[in-house]
Amino acid sequence: MAERNERYRGLFLHAKDTARGDRIVTFLCKEGILSLFLFGGPKSSLRSVATPYILADIEVYRDRRNDFSKLTGATILETFDSLHTSFSHMQAAAAAAEFVIRTSAFGGEYGLALQMITTLLRELPSIEEDSAPYAMYAFLWNALAPQGLAPDISACEHCGKRFTEEGSLPGRLLAGERSFLCARCAEERRRQGFPASAMLLIDAMVLQCLREILDVSYSQAARCMSANPSLLHIEAIIESLAESAAEGPLQSLRLFH
Ligand SMILES: [Zn+2]
Repeated sequence: MAERNERYRGLFLHAKDTARGDRIVTFLCKEGILSLFLFGGPKSSLRSVATPYILADIEVYRDRRNDFSKLTGATILETFDSLHTSFSHMQAAAAAAEFVIRTSAFGGEYGLALQMITTLLRELPSIEEDSAPYAMYAFLWNALAPQGLAPDISACEHCGKRFTEEGSLPGRLLAGERSFLCARCAEERRRQGFPASAMLLIDAMVLQCLREILDVSYSQAARCMSANPSLLHIEAIIESLAESAAEGPLQSLRLFH
């Protein structure tokens, strides 16, 4: 059978209107990330549903022969209204969505990505405007492990020296790389010509925070980060690792700066 209707439950991550007035939406569900066409101008009633960040049950008409999918129906399950009244909440959602799209849902972990981003959207309203970026950083940090890209936070990946050992800190993350180095191994890389300005500092406060924000709620993680004296280093480290995972800069992260 070349054509059929399919049903999915998930979240609209992105919408783009074409010059002709049609819309292409990106939809995350546990089956995958779907790219769907939505025909018709502004009067199409589906348009108000097919908008980022709405959780919905959808119907898709798939023409397998032409490898083409059309959104034919959508029922709203949940909207996240705080996003529309808060710039920083919207930016946090946009950065999380961009990361999910760019990494193909953490390398194919569609169900997990859907669950994580839905949880983030549900928690954002309870998070202070100023702290919303921290919730988003916690999301990015937690999203590295399923991709196998979370660095070892207990020991230097080069020499194995534990970060609790004297003289191991401050360590460094080399921008663009994925492992944490102890003070001596980082110094060795610097002498070999790696620019010191592209080395991100890792102290005990950074490691403590990175450990704490694994597997706690996003609001707890945001509180934990906002109270940490090494906040700027934590942000820089997560940003560098997230952009490595996404294989390039994340536009929505840039808007925070
Ligand atoms: Zn080392």
